[in-house]
Amino acid sequence: MTPVYLDNNATTRVEPSVVAAMLPFFTEQFGNASSIHAFGAEVGGALKTARRELQALLGAEHDHEIVYTAGGTESDSTAIFSALESLPDRTEIITSKVEHPAILAVCDHLEKTGRARIHRIGVDKAGRLDLDAYRAALSDKVALVTFMWANNETGTIFPVEGLAEMAKAVGALFHTDAVQAVGKVPIDMKSSVIDMLSLSGHKLHGPKGIGALYVRRGTRFKPLIRGGHQERGRRAGTENAPAIVGLGKAAALALQHMEEENTRVKALRDRLEAGIQQRIPNCFVNGDKDDRLPNTCNVAFEYVEGEAILLHLNRAGIAASSGSACTSGSLEPSHVLRAMDIPFTAAHGSIRFSFSRENTDQDVDRVLDVLPGILEKLRDLSPFWAGTNETPKAFKPVYA
Ligand SMILES: *Cc1c(COP(=O)(O)O)cnc(C)c1O
Repeated sequence: MTPVYLDNNATTRVEPSVVAAMLPFFTEQFGNASSIHAFGAEVGGALKTARRELQALLGAEHDHEIVYTAGGTESDSTAIFSALESLPDRTEIITSKVEHPAILAVCDHLEKTGRARIHRIGVDKAGRLDLDAYRAALSDKVALVTFMWANNETGTIFPVEGLAEMAKAVGALFHTDAVQAVGKVPIDMKSSVIDMLSLSGHKLHGPKGIGALYVRRGTRFKPLIRGGHQERGRRAGTENAPAIVGLGKAAALALQHMEEENTRVKALRDRLEAGIQQRIPNCFVNGDKDDRLPNTCNVAFEYVEGEAILLHLNRAGIAASSGSACTSGSLEPSHVLRAMDIPFTAAHGSIRFSFSRENTDQDVDRVLDVLPGILEKLRDLSPFWAGTNETPKAFKPVYA
């Protein structure tokens, strides 16, 4: 039984041709790009090519607008601390309640240590940003506005371009955590007003531990990590040459495949959603129906524990994930679904299926084969389900 991997928003498989592109930089081409001898020059040339490949995926005007980091988390931290340090007269940050922990934990820390006032903008039931609350929070005290491009749990897309224009109007810097968007939605930084953008290699079939922060030319910037002169003094430390080359290759492949694969992947996702709708009562889709990543499907199954569904799926060779952060055994529903005001009985049973271009029709068939039986079994055991005395409801998309 071949395993079915539907957890691509957590991480993706490194594409074999990406691995092949990386390998020489562990062996023959091991030089330090800063060295003036031939070993270094060879690597320097490869890094230049990789930077151009990533530049093309972002539609960036200059290749030196890219600062390599050790991943999405470091890119997010760099953007936040840089903005606060670059605009010392401004001490407020605007973000949303549904950001990744790489943003939220930093904001919590800045607030707790008294270094910034944080505005956390809420969302509606479909995960759409409260624009009135955002407008009300904007002022000349705001150093940074940071909103994610696409949500990792629900796939909901924020209208970042318009949000950035509003931030620029009060002189604030605008950053977007685009880790889930890069490689899945077309991006053209040339025609954008976004100042900074975070991305990560392992979310687009590149290696883990490599990412980048796009910093628009002319944007005020302070490094997070100081030391050598790598990345034009914006991120010290010897370049991770194999990973940078791998990210370049992954970016080139993403750009090449994006349009056709988005269409194919969206069809798989939509077939899974429709199939669940036909086969399983009392469930609904979390997120914005229209402005959503084509690969992400987050379904709330009422009156069951998401963890129990995942364990049964895993036994059937299917990997998905739940929104709830109960790795610690706490069974707290996800902060994203809580911000969307999804009822407790549904947030607990929410499952995310996230596709990539490696998924097939057979993968969808497998899930649709086993999932109804799993739900039936678990609901038979659920005291909440028994206690509802409800007649099973038809599938009801929350966004309809
Ligand atoms: C995965 C992810 C990150 C973190 O990226 P890493 O490279 O794993 O540090 C940040 N933001 C979002 C939205 C993500 O999905």
